[in-house]
Amino acid sequence: MIDRDRLSALLARERAEFAATHARSADAYAAARNLFGRVPMTWMNKAAGGFPVYAASARGARVTDVDGHTYVDFCLGDTAAMAGHSPAPVVDAVRRAAGDGLATMLPTEDAAWVGAELAGRFGVPRWSFTLTATDANRWAIRLLRAVTGRPRILVNSYCYHGSVDESLIVVGPDGEPAGRPGNVGAPCDVTTTSRVAEYNDLAGLERELAHGDVAAVLMEPALTNIGIVLPEPGYLAGVRELTRRYGSYLVNDETHTFSTGPGGATAAWELEPDVVTIGKAIGGGVPIGAYGLSASLASLLAGRDDLDLVDMGGVGGTLAGNPLSVTAARATLEHVLTPAAFARMTKVASTFAAGVREVVDRFGLPWSVTQLGARVEYRFASPAPSSGGASAAAADPDIEDFLHAYLLNRGVLLTPFHNMALMCPATTPADVATHHEVFAAAVTELVG
Ligand code: PMP
Repeated sequence: MIDRDRLSALLARERAEFAATHARSADAYAAARNLFGRVPMTWMNKAAGGFPVYAASARGARVTDVDGHTYVDFCLGDTAAMAGHSPAPVVDAVRRAAGDGLATMLPTEDAAWVGAELAGRFGVPRWSFTLTATDANRWAIRLLRAVTGRPRILVNSYCYHGSVDESLIVVGPDGEPAGRPGNVGAPCDVTTTSRVAEYNDLAGLERELAHGDVAAVLMEPALTNIGIVLPEPGYLAGVRELTRRYGSYLVNDETHTFSTGPGGATAAWELEPDVVTIGKAIGGGVPIGAYGLSASLASLLAGRDDLDLVDMGGVGGTLAGNPLSVTAARATLEHVLTPAAFARMTKVASTFAAGVREVVDRFGLPWSVTQLGARVEYRFASPAPSSGGASAAAADPDIEDFLHAYLLNRGVLLTPFHNMALMCPATTPADVATHHEVFAAAVTELVG
């Protein structure tokens, strides 16, 4: 029902408008000749307007760019700023800590507080820190390979767990496992290190686990990086039952599903993983990652004299657990991303979802809207896809670019990679209404 010529013309118009009104961002981009791809990290070239918006400042749910435009920010650093930009308790804690030694390589007392808080929230009692969620996943994988003596990791097709080599595998078009298209410099054929099953496919999972060589299933309780794909009734209980039956550990990557509530989907849905990994949001914007182990797994590992957990065995980083990261995490968890804040964020997210649904229904669009606590996503397929493969097939980069550019030109920022909107404690119903007004106008131009 979308006229592609009209879509191309609208996208060209929005890009021209963006270029005309973002001159300083354009200049900054043109001047950055010594950056590979002109950006600090090449993924920043995923910019619907044609080049990135350069940030000048950000507070709460607002970002202001170098051209003076202020945006309602539903991207929130792709979850890293779930607590809102520069929340006061985190800024105060970081200011205090910054003057007291940034890299002593000695433990600080806040780390134990954060460990206890994460244990209470996620139900696994022994925590270690990293600097990124990617590293939390990498180190969890190493520990689980060591403890099981099994070589392979199983993930869901079209998952994302950071740049973890083992996770860059998909169910290919012929149903066989294959490297994720575009994977850069795989160290070896990923089908020799990994197994893959579609999300919500218990039969496929069992078939792969039955090989008996899977150390761990690494999964998000709901997929979030290919749109949101929610679990069907019984799926997650089935995953737990099958992993136990086939002797594989279960890792819940809560980096994004943390939006479900104060203890992520793990607590909200009463899941029982052996390991929880997380990052980004718990530091309130300061780099941190963490992984939590069950008591039995931690004691198994601690009892293994052959594993070098202290020096160069492969599960460490000089700056992991640094004072700034852990003090920021303490401030975030103690004062900002509290249970009460999650309740408010989820309520605002429900308003967001309802408003988008209303527009989708009004125009009879074959699109779906999915909510995961404080996070909402719209996808160009209805009903909502039930697997990563199906959701990947529903991608429509042109519609996505048009909507993102249209929203950008009218002061609304979505996450660049898909149509994700996240609420932080500072997001208001008025912010949501702003999105809906612009979204409805965009859809009217597209199909009206
Ligand atoms: N796990 C999940 C589920 C993620 O979505 C991401 C990043 N989007 C990561 C891990 C990796 O996080 P980081 O890039 O901060 O290491």
